[in-house]
Amino acid sequence: MNLIERDKKHIWHPLTQHKLHPESKPIIKAKGALLYDEDGNAYIDAISSWYTAMYGHCNDFIIDRVYKQMQQLDQIIFSGFTHKPAIELSEKLMAILPNNQAKLMFNDNGSTSTEIGIKMALQYHHNTGNDRKTLLAFEEGFHGDTLGAMSVSGLSVYNGPFEAFFIDVKRVPLPNGENSSDILELIEKYHQETPLAGFIYEPLVQGAAGMKMYKAEYLNPILEKCKRLGIITIADEVMTGFGKTGSFFASDYVDIKPDVMCLSKALTAGLVPMGITTCTQEIYDAFYDDDISKGLFHAHTYSANPIACATAIAGIDLLTSEEIQSNIKEIESWHAAFSDAIKDHPKVRVTRQQGVIFALELDVEMERYGNLRYRIYEACMAEGVYLRPLGATIYILAPYVTTQDQMNQVYAAIKKILDTF
Ligand SMILES: *Cc1c(COP(=O)(O)O)cnc(C)c1O
Repeated sequence: MNLIERDKKHIWHPLTQHKLHPESKPIIKAKGALLYDEDGNAYIDAISSWYTAMYGHCNDFIIDRVYKQMQQLDQIIFSGFTHKPAIELSEKLMAILPNNQAKLMFNDNGSTSTEIGIKMALQYHHNTGNDRKTLLAFEEGFHGDTLGAMSVSGLSVYNGPFEAFFIDVKRVPLPNGENSSDILELIEKYHQETPLAGFIYEPLVQGAAGMKMYKAEYLNPILEKCKRLGIITIADEVMTGFGKTGSFFASDYVDIKPDVMCLSKALTAGLVPMGITTCTQEIYDAFYDDDISKGLFHAHTYSANPIACATAIAGIDLLTSEEIQSNIKEIESWHAAFSDAIKDHPKVRVTRQQGVIFALELDVEMERYGNLRYRIYEACMAEGVYLRPLGATIYILAPYVTTQDQMNQVYAAIKKILDTF
């Protein structure tokens, strides 16, 4: 039996309706920006394997660090014990995070990082003697697939079976420069009806919603309002973190800094899973008490896994290097030039860019082009480019180590789709 047949025997893939898409493509090797299949065909990983492998796949610098760590300390319970990789990572992370962040809790993926953010907000109010059980979120946000994270994510057909079990969430639209006062009024109204505990948001770019972008200046009044009403602000930077927006974090562009931040994905550079939730001293202090039940009794078995910590440290060392910083600037300028070249194409409705994140919305009727997304995927793979459109939005979020030739190959594949679809 070949790999595809063996895969089909037992494996249930994520986000897959197996009756419609019974086969998954085996990838046997990855290096830098490239993925390789069984026949030796190479594909540019133009979305960095869901925005994780930003320094390139199987990066030698990271592998070397991780190999050394593996020989030293592999896994240890992080309740009662501590270790140098975790301590060093906490220091390196705090050095690049907005400077109101003071404490961090380790976990093991993006959903757990937002789940802890939500629990911090809810328990903060519980501990300080307030009764706040409702959360605030943007209409089309995405914060993960566990129950709490799913609750605060935008309503989706996929979540139907679970809606009865969701946390109570009020939703406001994304600010567009014209609806700011409406949003502020809505928040005020919701808060009068039932006090809001926390506001979770993807700063500047909503990933899963189709790389929807909005300006930092529109976020400021919303966050200001939340602060005034004692609503804990939770920045979900699982997608935007670690350089993608052109700065270390999207929150760097926003004047009002969040109380809580959620990190994962590029945190561990596409090598191993890890999540981290950070918070201000004020949040932490609300849990610091002689009363044991006021603590945040939350753990994941692999919290602060030393291998994952070593990976994250190596990742931050690369992110802060001159080489990667100059690559980010370069990719920004390539994207801007590509945007100029195609933005007036009749098939392009609009282009968007923030840092190395580039998105274009196709001007097509989705019904007429049913299954469009899958056809785009197939057409790009035939050109040696891996892209994963979101609805009618094609986006590029390629590794920082993508060469100009490779990026031109990605642009050419997209151009071909515009000209032939
Ligand atoms: C991917 C993502 C998550 C969930 O992370 P997982 O590791 O897939 O659980 C949460 N928030 C945002 C913004 C994401 O992009």
